[in-house]
Amino acid sequence: MSKVLVIGAGGVGSVAVHKMAMNPDIFSDITLASRTVSKCEAIARSVKERTGVTVKTAQIDADDVAATTALIKQVQPRLVVNLALPYQDLAIMDACLAAGVNYMDTANYEPRDEAHFEYSWQWAYQDKFKTAGLMALLGSGFDPGVTSVFATWLKKHHFERIDTLDILDCNGGDHGQHFATNFNPEINIREVTAPARHWENGAWVTTPALSHKQSFDFDQVGPKNMYLMYHEELESLAKFFPEIKRIRFWMTFGDAYLKHLEVLQNVGMTRIDPVIYNGVEIIPLQFLKAVLPEPASLGPTTRGKTNIGDIATGLGKDGKDKTLYVYNICDHEDAYAETGNQAVSYTTGVPAMIGAALMLQGIWSGAGVFNIEQLDPDPFMDMLNKHGLPWQMVELPEPLAF
Ligand code: NDP
Repeated sequence: MSKVLVIGAGGVGSVAVHKMAMNPDIFSDITLASRTVSKCEAIARSVKERTGVTVKTAQIDADDVAATTALIKQVQPRLVVNLALPYQDLAIMDACLAAGVNYMDTANYEPRDEAHFEYSWQWAYQDKFKTAGLMALLGSGFDPGVTSVFATWLKKHHFERIDTLDILDCNGGDHGQHFATNFNPEINIREVTAPARHWENGAWVTTPALSHKQSFDFDQVGPKNMYLMYHEELESLAKFFPEIKRIRFWMTFGDAYLKHLEVLQNVGMTRIDPVIYNGVEIIPLQFLKAVLPEPASLGPTTRGKTNIGDIATGLGKDGKDKTLYVYNICDHEDAYAETGNQAVSYTTGVPAMIGAALMLQGIWSGAGVFNIEQLDPDPFMDMLNKHGLPWQMVELPEPLAF
């Protein structure tokens, strides 16, 4: 019997809980808690209709460590899956330590007042989790998550040595809105407007946001413009694969998205410092989030596919230089039909369910704080194929030309 407590009732939480309910042999008892309990109840209703499984719900402000600790003690799960926002990571880790329960998330900690994320804050919990004999798994979504598992799997089975790694994240979906983000708008816009950084010859190279553009022809999506960006798995990949000379992350954006973003930036709507409006302090980006479509509402209208994967070059296990590309294609409409959520939530929620399943079954275990690259990729890769995110590998005739 494996009880799980999921915190966060957004698009990702919704997919993860639906997929957990579809695997009752692993997840025998599910509680979903979030700030707005009505969102938990709506997800529980959908899960009941689709699977017949009852999901318990609770209200929680996860910034409140004492209240979260009390909830964990009351529910008594074997694992807390944090699918709230990156701001809550440390508070939920503290609550897990206080209650003596394992922890998992999909995004690294970010302070509210600085558009800056890095693993240092969570890696600082290493000794605490180790001493408590508990496991914290960081970054079990798609990117970070699957993209790091792809790299680990490529190294384990195909490469003596990886020289370069490019992560290509393409969302070829169209939601029919003038401007909307596919996951939490505040987190998404902070990420996209941050300077780009990539890893090259043992150091970070920083360039202005969205200043490097390349075109790539994505399988089942077609040619798209993609932009060099900083993304959090670059930090853990650089740490756990010190041999790799260059690691880059690319994400596709349409011209309309970029035009809107530029205007919003120019007029100050993406600012994260407080401004006074009618005598009240507001954060412009948080106000913007309030008027943009909820990512979870995009499900019914989004058409098209995502294609996300890793291209690695290096010395193959057969002694030859090679370029291998591992990727997953996910269809927005299929994802919606199965869970009521579009593919960006789906491609994050499914790996969250898989990471949780591997921890609950003891297939992934240990004491301390772990990034996903440190764990055996094989059971995760198997579960991707079985639970809705099948992947494929192709050998490219040559490395990327850029
Ligand atoms: P949403 O904004 O849709 O959902 C976030 C949920 O967290 C909401 O239900 C929100 O509640 C809840 N929440 C926010 N603050 C608190 C709090 N203090 N206490 C309790 N609950 C809270 O986001 P997504 O579902 O799109 O994303 C969830 C997470 O997944 C984020 O951390 C995001 O960065 C990460 N992510 C990771 C990806 C990956 O590939 N690794 C890709 C996409 C997302 P309320 O409804 O009240 O606002």
